[in-house]
Amino acid sequence: MQTIPHLIQGVAHHGGTRTQAVYNPATGAAIRTLQLADAKTVELAIASAQAAYPAWRATPPLKRARVMSKLKELLEQNADKICALITEEHGKVLADAMGELQRGIENVEYASYAPELLKGEHSKNVGPGIDAWSEFQPLGVTAGITPFNFPAMVPLWMWPMAVVCGNTFILKPSERDPSSAMMIAELALQAGLPPGVLNVVNGDKEAVDVLLSDARVQAVSFVGSTPIAQAIYGTGCANGKRVQALGGAKNHAIVMPDADIANAVSAMMGAAYGSCGERCMAVPLIVAVGDDTADKMIEGLKAEIARMRIGPGTDPQSDMGPLVTRAHFEKVKGYVDTGVAEGAKLVVDGRGIKVSGHEDGFFLGPCLFDHVKPHMTIYLEEIFGPVLGIVRVASLQEGMDLIDAHEYGNGTCIFTRDGEAARYFTDNIQVGMVGVNVPLPVPVAYHSFGGWKRSLFGDLHAYGPDGVRFYTRRKAITQRWPSAGVREGAVFSFPSSR
Ligand code: NAD
Repeated sequence: MQTIPHLIQGVAHHGGTRTQAVYNPATGAAIRTLQLADAKTVELAIASAQAAYPAWRATPPLKRARVMSKLKELLEQNADKICALITEEHGKVLADAMGELQRGIENVEYASYAPELLKGEHSKNVGPGIDAWSEFQPLGVTAGITPFNFPAMVPLWMWPMAVVCGNTFILKPSERDPSSAMMIAELALQAGLPPGVLNVVNGDKEAVDVLLSDARVQAVSFVGSTPIAQAIYGTGCANGKRVQALGGAKNHAIVMPDADIANAVSAMMGAAYGSCGERCMAVPLIVAVGDDTADKMIEGLKAEIARMRIGPGTDPQSDMGPLVTRAHFEKVKGYVDTGVAEGAKLVVDGRGIKVSGHEDGFFLGPCLFDHVKPHMTIYLEEIFGPVLGIVRVASLQEGMDLIDAHEYGNGTCIFTRDGEAARYFTDNIQVGMVGVNVPLPVPVAYHSFGGWKRSLFGDLHAYGPDGVRFYTRRKAITQRWPSAGVREGAVFSFPSSR
């Protein structure tokens, strides 16, 4: 079986005595062995990044940006191979993997605008013969820790912008599906990224703990579940690092009585069941305003679910693949059991589904609950599976109060034809990313991505303009060249323009 090593100083590096199997979730079979980095291996990666930093920092931004332009080309040329790896290890259908990769490529494209993004600000004559400017300088060695659910895209949210700003980077991908991130790192070398500028260490908590404690690492980006995000933010900050830690979600979609119900149903099918619900912007809750709206949504969803095709992600006929691991499958199935036990009405039961020829795969069919109540576990907790619940409310305000009271604030959306209601919603809802008739309002690469409340720890969102800010620090420089031969006396008052 193929062993996946680390990538340090531009070459494969074998380090760490512990290993872990990587599975194909569609077959349930172990397909690769992953080396789990020990402290020594991570320290070697940090040393490599530290050594590469001075020359890379001094490389003109335009030259750094050209590496990103070349990488974009290579990613496009190798898209089929990268997506095959994503589907093989994650399980999502190939078309969805292609969408993920395309969004990642757009982040690489945005990073290639670095010379423009890093220009800084200049003011002439802020005082007699005095000019001032502020510039954005890199931080040094930076690191990123990423989740399983977007194995190619989320790393591409981070390191292209970090390196194009002049930093060096250490990526710790998810141990569940690391191969696409590894392949992309190798393509970056082919694109001309010097060895050591990007290093990849595979591993788990042991590797992450070193990245959080080593004084050479200046900043850490994290994307994953909320408890880990909170812990990473706390430890990283306590160790003096700049940290952004994006966490979990429980996104609600409000459906108003005046909404185009047929289109809302279609949109919700993809939002709830796309990628088997394993998206932080998935919408696992519909808040239906009025019983009539709820009844119509259920009728439409039941009909659409009956047409859904569940199967391996490699089959172009499949709409939805398996869950990522057996443990996650058991956890999601357990949530469905709990929903039933707590009194929600299970309208469509996806438990027990069998996919012919893939009997050992981690497949769970789409599940639909009606009469979900705000005290229930399936309302409160992130399930991260193909489980959609409907909550019935009497008014828009009641629905908004529910969303605002929830611990997460990643994404939300409203389906309506009423501009006034939509405007009130977008203006007031306590959520970071909001859609109007757009169920997955994932910002494009030139905006930034981030939730509110316990969906993000830190001040700056991921990628886009906030990405530039996160991976740079501002320096303000004031400069004066006094005329030669002019004698200047001492001044004891605070310098000002009075
Ligand atoms: P996870 O928190 O289990 O793992 C994320 C990363 O943290 C992995 O690289 C993992 O190796 C590492 N990790 C796990 N336990 C750790 C520990 N105790 N100490 C240090 N590092 C540890 O998340 P996951 O299951 O891979 O991903 C799914 C979660 O990610 C969901 O909660 C989802 O909502 C969230 N997510 C959020 C966003 C966002 O932008 N807000 C995007 C994608 C996924």
